[in-house]
Amino acid sequence: MSDIEKVNCLIIGSGPAGYTAAIYASRANLSPVLYEGMQTGGQLTTTNEVENFPGYPEGVSGMDMMDDIRQQALRFGADIREGNVTACELSDTKKIVTIDDKKTIEAEAVIIATGASARYLGLESERKFRGMGVSACAVCDGFFYRKKDVAVIGGGDTAVGDALYLSGIANKVYLIVRKNYLRASKVLQERVSNTPNIEILFEHVTKEVLGDNSGVTGLRLEKQGKDEVIINITGMFLAIGHNPNTSIFKGQITLDENGYIVTEGKGTQTNIKGVFACGDVQDPTYRQAITAAASGCKAALDTERYLLSKGE
Ligand code: NDP
Repeated sequence: MSDIEKVNCLIIGSGPAGYTAAIYASRANLSPVLYEGMQTGGQLTTTNEVENFPGYPEGVSGMDMMDDIRQQALRFGADIREGNVTACELSDTKKIVTIDDKKTIEAEAVIIATGASARYLGLESERKFRGMGVSACAVCDGFFYRKKDVAVIGGGDTAVGDALYLSGIANKVYLIVRKNYLRASKVLQERVSNTPNIEILFEHVTKEVLGDNSGVTGLRLEKQGKDEVIINITGMFLAIGHNPNTSIFKGQITLDENGYIVTEGKGTQTNIKGVFACGDVQDPTYRQAITAAASGCKAALDTERYLLSKGE
């Protein structure tokens, strides 16, 4: 068995919550070690333009913003590492975490900032064409659909933002919305209705992804629960929300009915002493970069207090 590395403060996850926790924890001399997980920088790196984060009057790309926060954490000495947490044994007295199925770490305190992942419709045909026209990241894959017709599924801020982004690349964008209204913010709704190459199909539900050896060729939709509609597209972008990344904590950390980590009161304490959670993994409501960063700050402050009280 490999040697166990002992660390003071282990941070799992690298979105705005994890990196902000790393800034605060390193400035408090907690010697944080942060594992970045599968997606360095988290979900924001798949966002095009972030226009509502204070301090960037002209907006900033999600990728650049995450790189800025990462650099800030490094500047104060955070030990940021590549690697994915694959197992953990967390209790009030011992916190053991496995990285990439091989390395073992024992931490005095753990901050969970594993975020959330894109949701899919769950259709067999959708699974079949994943990576062949089905994508959950317009910013990552939009480039491949220059002058093509594409569809975005969903009616929230993500879907409308994705449709706007794709409208600048693709020939035509269908926005497929299951209800008869958009959930997105008014400013985005206005923009989308003023974009001539976006067509919104309200009260349409995706029943099947159509395709052949070349990939996606269309979607079979159901209109208002009865009529069948076929649209010809080569790219389908999912933007129907997210699931929290908590499967490795199941049975140890208390989760709510949707899998989000439950934290106590206004703080970030989980049901296990010395284990804190911040960012989207514990926030089904706000899910903004700024609220994630704020909760990362809180998690680091809670951790500092916990470690101080332990040492007394
Ligand atoms: P939301 O949960 O807000 O919206 C999800 C959308 O997908 C809804 O329109 C929902 O429809 C639809 N949907 C869900 N499941 C299905 C399904 N099975 N089939 C068809 N449609 C489905 O998620 P978002 O990712 O858009 O936003 C999450 C949070 O992040 C929000 O708080 C949002 O404000 C925020 N955000 C902010 C941004 C910004 O400020 N720039 C950018 C992106 C996100 P229905 O309405 O019928 O439930």
